[in-house]
Amino acid sequence: MSGTSTGRLYGVGLGPGDPSLMTVRAVEVIAEADVIAYHSARHGRSIARSIAARHIRPDHIEEALVYPVTTETTDHPGGYRGALEEFYEEAAARLAVHLDAGRTVAVLAEGDPLFYGSYMHMHKRLADRYPTEVVPGVTSVSGAAARLGVPLVEAEEVLTILPGTLPEEELTARLASTDAAVVMKLGRTFPKVRRALERSGRLNEARYVERATMEGERTGALAEVAADSVPYFSVAVLPSRIGATAPEPPVDAVPGRGEVVVVGTGPAGPLWLTPESKGALAGADDLVGYTTYLDRVPVRAGQRRHGSDNRVESERAEFALELARRGRRVAVVSGGDPGVFAMATAVLEAAALPEYAEVPVRVLPGVTAANAAAAAAGAPLGHDYATISLSDRLKPWEVVAERLRAAAGADLVLALYNPGSRSRTWQVGKARELLLEHRAPDTPVVVARDVGGPEQSVRVVRLAELEPGEVDMRTLLLVGSSQTRTVRRGDGTTVAWTPRRYPEAP
Ligand code: SAH
Repeated sequence: MSGTSTGRLYGVGLGPGDPSLMTVRAVEVIAEADVIAYHSARHGRSIARSIAARHIRPDHIEEALVYPVTTETTDHPGGYRGALEEFYEEAAARLAVHLDAGRTVAVLAEGDPLFYGSYMHMHKRLADRYPTEVVPGVTSVSGAAARLGVPLVEAEEVLTILPGTLPEEELTARLASTDAAVVMKLGRTFPKVRRALERSGRLNEARYVERATMEGERTGALAEVAADSVPYFSVAVLPSRIGATAPEPPVDAVPGRGEVVVVGTGPAGPLWLTPESKGALAGADDLVGYTTYLDRVPVRAGQRRHGSDNRVESERAEFALELARRGRRVAVVSGGDPGVFAMATAVLEAAALPEYAEVPVRVLPGVTAANAAAAAAGAPLGHDYATISLSDRLKPWEVVAERLRAAAGADLVLALYNPGSRSRTWQVGKARELLLEHRAPDTPVVVARDVGGPEQSVRVVRLAELEPGEVDMRTLLLVGSSQTRTVRRGDGTTVAWTPRRYPEAP
């Protein structure tokens, strides 16, 4: 090192614990370095230093960067964050003195330096001023999977890495909606992480790895781990589900295991599926539903799919309850929200039969077509509105007509589901006629087709010009009230909204 140029900064990943999992480059860099720096808690023991110990020589200068706080209690005026900020600034300044003097500094990091590591705080403060190299390391994620000896992710599976410090609801949602997962930073967070695994229905898949590849390593089923025995250096692993499904439970063998979850996929693709519903679909043994909706659910090995056409709802409901009674976890799949003109009522009706009294039934909410269509058009449902199905397959047309008149007379905005199909073609024309008895011809009507799907079209037309021929099975109509307004925006689109304020009665 010459006195005229600065030294180099290295962030050195050391792997998960076993010193033989250090990379050749990590060993080279430590051999070349003048200064070896490492972070530690106040007790002074550094895991990183112990991994690299055999490569540290007496002529190395050691810089121990000791955290001033490890819990969130401190008397620093800036609180916990303030105390850390000050510590990082001071630590970076100490390393800068060496770098300015031309000395090479290797900052040791357990695992990989850019993966939840303390090195990052030095990197952000120094890398723009000094020549810097980051040496990647084997992360604890890879270390843990290797020690478990199970596939982590395969094919199209998604791996989610979560800090256990997240709030429980957030953990639950993420665990429910991913394939494989690794939860880091256990220790004090363990009881919360365990609850999140349970609530997301994934506790039975969860594996536990403590001190992967280090001395004192422990692996096992997470459900059997005692909370008070869990250190910070441990992870929860949800491995690949491909080929890992439990054998089919024998009929009647697992009383109380079975249930029916009624799930709505939302109006279209995955952006509209809630994490809770996604989790329920992934966790089911059997999927039951109309083929169009089942096709929205990704295929999972070991899961059985029972597709049918759009009729015979009661038979489908009883079939699902029968499977659940025999110990299977069954998801009944609807589009949109399962409680809006969909399967939830059929399931509850069948569940009222005495033979299904003991079968647990849960209904999970979904995004209904009216909400999706309204959002696409602006905010036409911003005030009071009524939801009516124009289908006279399950109720007489006289009832539909009477309700249309009553809702129109009450100046409610209307969300009209099932407005027409190939075989039901006259209902929209008839509804328009009835509505025009109460509403001005200029009343805005949102014609929303395939919202969220590949053929989405959302138009605002005048009530007088509503064309029955433009309406099909994939269409929802939102008929404005006397207060609903429209405006043409700068980009050429028309938006509609219904103000929340209503004029005083005359
Ligand atoms: N449970 C569903 C409704 C089932 S009734 C929900 O909550 O949305 C079927 C009717 O819903 C269709 O005829 C149509 O009126 C409406 N619909 C469902 N998905 C739609 C979409 N993506 N775009 C427009 N309308 C839709």
